[in-house]
Amino acid sequence: MDCTEVRARLESLCDGELEEPCAARLRGHLERCPACRAHYAEAASLPARLAALPAPEPPAGLLPGVLHRIRRERVGRARLWGLPAAELLLFGVVLWYLSGPQGLVTLMQRTAADAASLLGWGAGVAHLPAATAGDVFLLLLFGLLVVVTVYHLTLLARAGFRTS
Ligand SMILES: [Zn+2]
Repeated sequence: MDCTEVRARLESLCDGELEEPCAARLRGHLERCPACRAHYAEAASLPARLAALPAPEPPAGLLPGVLHRIRRERVGRARLWGLPAAELLLFGVVLWYLSGPQGLVTLMQRTAADAASLLGWGAGVAHLPAATAGDVFLLLLFGLLVVVTVYHLTLLARAGFRTS
């Protein structure tokens, strides 16, 4: 074992990480070689010298700043996971309200009839069609779903810009 090999393993020897035959060879070299012994003394005293250094004071705003960021990210994450749940719920209610393909067909027929009535009203041929309560409810649900989804997409876009 030459001086280069010994010096490469001095830290491991200090930390007690070397197996015994290797550690014994290293100690043997250190007894014979004053230059490596000086390196070993320096390496061995390093933890104590580091511990003796005064710990630097953190900047005054560091801790409040970190806590503020953590809190903001937690709220953001909760919103990102809460919104899909709300969207799914709204979508489920809309689906339930439409109650399958037959409901969808009925809705399209009613919409077509409403549109025809509106055109007739615009042309002065028919009266303004009265909105049924179910349609208003569905329209409200759909509007709410659109608003929540747009808000969600805005948040996702903002989160994407922050990470990239
Ligand atoms: Zn040596």
